[in-house]
Amino acid sequence: MDATQKQKQQPINAQSTTEDVVSLFTRKVANRTQWGAFAVVLPLAIVQGYAENWLMTAWLTAFCCYSLSLALISRHRNLRQIQLLAFVTLLAIAACYSTFINGINGFVWSFPVMASIVFLLRRRLAIITAFCFYALITGVAVIAMPLDLVWRGSLSLGAVLVLTLTLLVLLERMQTSFTQLATTDTLTGLYNRKRLTSELDSALARYRRNQQPVSLVICDIDWFKPLNDKFGHLQGDRLLVQAAQLIQDSVRNTDTVYRVGGEEFLVLMSDTDRAGAAVAAEKLRHQFAAQDFKLKGAETRMTLSAGVAQLKNDEHWTDWLERADQRLYQAKAAGRNKVVSD
Ligand code: GH3
Ligand code: MG
Ligand code: MG
Repeated sequence: MDATQKQKQQPINAQSTTEDVVSLFTRKVANRTQWGAFAVVLPLAIVQGYAENWLMTAWLTAFCCYSLSLALISRHRNLRQIQLLAFVTLLAIAACYSTFINGINGFVWSFPVMASIVFLLRRRLAIITAFCFYALITGVAVIAMPLDLVWRGSLSLGAVLVLTLTLLVLLERMQTSFTQLATTDTLTGLYNRKRLTSELDSALARYRRNQQPVSLVICDIDWFKPLNDKFGHLQGDRLLVQAAQLIQDSVRNTDTVYRVGGEEFLVLMSDTDRAGAAVAAEKLRHQFAAQDFKLKGAETRMTLSAGVAQLKNDEHWTDWLERADQRLYQAKAAGRNKVVSD
């Protein structure tokens, strides 16, 4: 297999968002669980067949067919919550029925069923389904098992329920932290280009729904390289941190600022037309030029140039971004320390 073929088969790449990573992970968990359920339940169905327990055999065989079909589907796409709910419901009914006829020998299957419920379903649905299953199987156990086994069994199943739910919540928190890390610029703390891509997708979808104007401003610090060369890279970094803070403070709370390149920043302005964005960019340009940026033992002034563009009907965000970039280029060509809008 050559390198390009390998790349095609690799579903996660540098452009992937953290949502893509989570979605792939979720699909893999579902897929492995379905293959596992198929492999475990098939021999059980055969054993029940030998025991001439026909209702259970039919139920388990139907379940095997269903989990096999889900396992094949989930190789290529994510399953819907309703399909996963049906999957765990079939498992839960089998565990309850097995407890009813086999007592503790059936109850032992409630542990993997509980884990499947918690890890396959979305959080809210998982919590509701897990507690319903817990109540149901404990009720069946009271009818079918001696009391000393009932309280031990339900106590340990309760512990599994709490542990798996705790793990689920911690995994979700970890996912939020990783998302934060992957979408934040380490130097300035602003959102980075990866975050911008997904935000532009959402902005485009919102615009197509509600037609509210949305604009963007691309700013680039003028003559930054000579400053870097004069004061050194570390001092340059200090300047970038202050520049980022100033841009963040200058715009509205509803505007989002991204660091999209070395000394290049982008402001996404929702509910703002081209004229409004140009006014905001001019205000920012003035504030920037009037600021004394601190260096170790010195101060310096800097200016920035900006390009402004409003999203047009039937336009993809790549064209929108390109228009703003062209305006920035014009601002540079016109002598810098300027704002050019569409
Ligand atoms: P222009 O007015 O045309 O924008 O000129 P410029 O010098 O700002 O632009 P140019 O693209 O030539 O140089 C950008 C410089 O930004 C190059 C590099 O030294 C500096 N730079 C990029 N990223 C960083 C960073 O993370 N830290 C520091 N200190 N400097 C950076
Ligand atoms: Mg520059
Ligand atoms: Mg630049």
